[in-house]
Amino acid sequence: MDLILKNACLPGERDEILTDIGIAGGNIVAIQGGLSGDTEIIDLDGKLAVPGFVESHIHLDKACILDRCKSEEGTLEEAIREVSVAKKAFTVEDIRARAIRTLEKCILQGTTRMRAHLEVDPVIGIKSIEAILPLVDEYAWAINLEICVFPQEGLLNNPGTDELIIEALKRGAHVVGGCPYTDSDPRGQIERIFEIACEFDVDIDFHLDFDTNPEGMTLGDVCELTEKHGYSGRVAIGHVSKLSALPPEQLKAAAIQLANAGVAVTVLPSTDLYLMGAERSHNIVRGVAPVHRLIEDGVNCALSTNNVLNPFTPFGDCSMIRMANLYANIGQIGTNSGLRQCLDLVTHHPARLMRIENYGIAVGNPADIVILDCSSGVAAVQELAVPLAGFKNGRRTFTREPAQLHRP
Ligand SMILES: [Zn+2]
Repeated sequence: MDLILKNACLPGERDEILTDIGIAGGNIVAIQGGLSGDTEIIDLDGKLAVPGFVESHIHLDKACILDRCKSEEGTLEEAIREVSVAKKAFTVEDIRARAIRTLEKCILQGTTRMRAHLEVDPVIGIKSIEAILPLVDEYAWAINLEICVFPQEGLLNNPGTDELIIEALKRGAHVVGGCPYTDSDPRGQIERIFEIACEFDVDIDFHLDFDTNPEGMTLGDVCELTEKHGYSGRVAIGHVSKLSALPPEQLKAAAIQLANAGVAVTVLPSTDLYLMGAERSHNIVRGVAPVHRLIEDGVNCALSTNNVLNPFTPFGDCSMIRMANLYANIGQIGTNSGLRQCLDLVTHHPARLMRIENYGIAVGNPADIVILDCSSGVAAVQELAVPLAGFKNGRRTFTREPAQLHRP
């Protein structure tokens, strides 16, 4: 073995398990107590080991632009307008520098898998792809980075965008996304995105139904086309804040539709909280889809960061544990099983959404492991446990020293 992590606490169904993890050739080769050998040994002293976090929905290309944008109204319209103007001055070098700043923050928070949503349109061209695609190889030592190309400002209403999506996929983008709510023909965009996905045999990840009016949902169109094209398990939809406005029986019907079609839902709690309900003066609706209810009906769901320090979300530390905790607050989740599920929503569930094979702390899987400063999955979410160290394919990628008191 190349490395033994002694006294690791692993989250279990009900209780945690204290054990050792043996690593060789980048993979986990043993999980059992009493491992020893003439090799590097790290004693975790009962700290929690979880698989690397999975960030399935984040915008690296428009992160960290608050120095050049306003965020005063806190509305989706303002965010799209402000970023649309700022984008005109983006250069490949500028996008690359901001993406690296964000990506490294994510790595330091324990994220080892990511789907970055990058936009193309006739104003920005494919600069985001040119800037960020090289990071896939440059950062492979720490993170598996997947690129999803999508038309933030519409497709059918924005001539030239279609060709740019095709160009991005030819250059190596892994997934195609959509944003029907900014399109003059939402159904038309959804149909065209499915066509493109089938042509390139790539998965689909939409931004969808992003307001709190229960009318006019396009979720049904996505489910219908997923079934028509045999894309079950390969389609995700992000935000879907309209679901938060549905009464229980309608929510259940939507959940069953999603589960039957095999469409996953990603909730972006920080962005949804920030942008929804800004038109109200009091009793403000929160607009966060109740994923823990959807899971009960068999829908695969995930939590993700979405935006970092821009008018869509003028916050962000790239912490997935913070997203899990934030969702627990919004969902009023306090039970142990509910809190464990919140941890799954930033690990196992998004891994399934991204169809990642060999994910998780198990013998035979890649040793992608994060050590948190706590001793249970419940405490990780309750206490926003700090990531102390990360390992990618068995190699240490970051270290954070625990805080120390200096008594007089
Ligand atoms: Zn997004």
